[in-house]
Amino acid sequence: MTEGEFHKSRTMKLPRSVAIGHGVLDDIASIFEDAGLGGSALIVQDETTREIAGKKVEDLLKKAGYTVHSHIISDADMENVRSVMEHAKKIHADFLAGIGGGRSIDVAKCAASEIGGMSFASIPTAASHDGIVSGAASITVDGKKSSISAEPPVLVVADTSIIAKAPYALLTAGYGDIISNKTAVLDWEMAHRETGEETSSYAIALSSITAEIMLRNADKMHPGDEESAWMVVKALTASGVAMSIAGSSRPASGAEHLFSHALDRIAEKPALHGHQCAIGSIMIMKLHGGDWEDFRNRMKIAGLPTSAKEIGVSEKEIVDALLMAPQIRPERYTILHKLKLTRKDAEELAIETGVIGGE
Ligand SMILES: [Zn+2]
Repeated sequence: MTEGEFHKSRTMKLPRSVAIGHGVLDDIASIFEDAGLGGSALIVQDETTREIAGKKVEDLLKKAGYTVHSHIISDADMENVRSVMEHAKKIHADFLAGIGGGRSIDVAKCAASEIGGMSFASIPTAASHDGIVSGAASITVDGKKSSISAEPPVLVVADTSIIAKAPYALLTAGYGDIISNKTAVLDWEMAHRETGEETSSYAIALSSITAEIMLRNADKMHPGDEESAWMVVKALTASGVAMSIAGSSRPASGAEHLFSHALDRIAEKPALHGHQCAIGSIMIMKLHGGDWEDFRNRMKIAGLPTSAKEIGVSEKEIVDALLMAPQIRPERYTILHKLKLTRKDAEELAIETGVIGGE
């Protein structure tokens, strides 16, 4: 290699088309036609999401001349991923479409990636996490919930009239997943300073501003409000694009995500991903010396839970998750890897930030 030669390269996989807004589901056939995905679709959904949106999509696609098959999943695990793959091969599907809050999209995403070269469309019925746009999927492997990296969707069709009708807790979870980008970025920048890990300024800028906009608009979050759904879906999309630019989940997943993944494994009844991440962010923010009180205050304004009690997780589980978090991904350097908290440190942190203790 000659000195001064340039050797950097990166591939960014982005969605080809993202349709967000009131009634966009009505245009699904023309959106699919424009994307040129082929004529045979396998719709991955569960019983509930089929009622909410799936049947409508099936009808609209059939009317437009598509061959449509439905695959009902029971859970987001490898068994369901494999059965979707077999089904898709058997009917010679051209593309997969996942319709749901998370599970169907995760299963369809993984199956499409495993098959290789198969397009996948994401049709969220709720906006509870950034997986609706990104390449990251949450799948249970050998009884453990794991974060798997797959291909991002080619198409995203997010109808806000449907998403606004989903339980409000799901939307605030989506909000929580976005604002947790704040600490993810702090961890990434720290890793860059201390280990020389490569970062992307564009991914960091997009991820940070997305979280900022959401925090600034905390008072505009309201149950059943389509404008709130619109705001969260747009932010989840931007967050997904930041991950595509980075080529990893780094800009949207730091120690607060490892804490949430740890809770998923040890809590008797884990809470929603976005709520766990945001609560983790309060604590991680304090470790970074950030304004965790303002962060927590905005969470409260937007209607998010901020304590263990509110998400139905025990105080011991919170502390155990903080201690277990670095082992979830030893290679992803975060402030928890750096500080190596003792049980006493973790307890104090959780108490001082109001996550545990209190009334
Ligand atoms: Zn997340």
